[in-house]
Amino acid sequence: MLIEIQFCGVCHSDLHQIRDEWGGAIYPMVPGHEIVGKISKIGAAVKKFKVGDLAGVGCFVDSCRTCSSCAAGNEQYCENGMTGTYNSYEKDGKTIAQGGYSNTIVVDENYTLSISDKLPLSAVAPLLCAGITTYSPLMHWKVRAGQKVAIVGLGGLGHMGVKLAVSLGAEITVLSTSASKEKDALALGAHSFLVTTDKEAVKKARNRFDFVLDTVSGKHDLNLYLGMVKLDGAMVMVGLPPEALPVDAFSLIPKRKTLAGSMIGGIRETQEMLDYCAANNIVSDIELIAIKDIEAAYVRMVKGDVRYRFVIDMATL
Ligand code: NAP
Ligand code: ZN
Repeated sequence: MLIEIQFCGVCHSDLHQIRDEWGGAIYPMVPGHEIVGKISKIGAAVKKFKVGDLAGVGCFVDSCRTCSSCAAGNEQYCENGMTGTYNSYEKDGKTIAQGGYSNTIVVDENYTLSISDKLPLSAVAPLLCAGITTYSPLMHWKVRAGQKVAIVGLGGLGHMGVKLAVSLGAEITVLSTSASKEKDALALGAHSFLVTTDKEAVKKARNRFDFVLDTVSGKHDLNLYLGMVKLDGAMVMVGLPPEALPVDAFSLIPKRKTLAGSMIGGIRETQEMLDYCAANNIVSDIELIAIKDIEAAYVRMVKGDVRYRFVIDMATL
């Protein structure tokens, strides 16, 4: 299907990859994996969509379709390697997949999401990565009402994590390095806010949370956050700092804590998340930018100054 891209979110992963912070970057690279637009052409075999439908594309555009992960709907964990939306080779092993900072993209219907026309399209775009990346672990670890949950880092992923966890009825604390974000955190629905440079506040929060979702993009002390996880609780990393972060065994063992990771979500779960957000009126808080302002957006992103997701208006390209 040929999709005319209307909006594309700006993920911190775009920045990690264009700057080759994770290694192995493939150039030329057109980033962007929070894509929404309208279908303008379809192939003869397309069944689920028609011309004129709204469509979304997230972080991958293909996978092997035969391994146990694909069969289970976990295409993001494909045993033969998924094809990323960009910075990835297509199945032919030589064509470089190119992403959403673009006017159009061609995607197989099986890797395309259906988008509701009830929500503002520009604010839906970030759900394709920031939304699913926070929704999936909240579901997998069964976060629910009555639990104490902390979201670490109030950026693109973090603010979606707050909205989604609030909607599940959990009691949310934002753990942030930016005291200036307290008002916003509470406006997003968080119940409390803790500045992680405040040693007293961190000490008071020892062994407090059932579940901690770590969305931090840079180097940080995992042990500080693990200290706030309670007996049998879990901390799940979704942030992907380029450097290895040391974990002290004493941060985990004395209270049987779990440290885990989670990567985006499969197609079925992404559709479930989009439908859930449409039903519950959940979208991203965005700052719409023109494509010419992308470098300035990256500079602000590195400073932690994203309120709370940049989205590119593709009409400006
Ligand atoms: P973002 O909008 O830049 O937000 C990251 C936030 O983390 C910042 O706003 C800041 O919040 C906090 N932070 C940044 N550097 C920090 C540091 N050194 N120490 C402590 N806190 C720090 O980024 P994003 O788009 O949400 O992405 C976050 C991370 O998730 C990136 O590494 C990205 O590559 C990764 N990611 C992973 C997946 C996945 O599937 N697992 C999917 C998408 C993105 P405060 O100001 O509140 O401290
Ligand atoms: Zn992303």
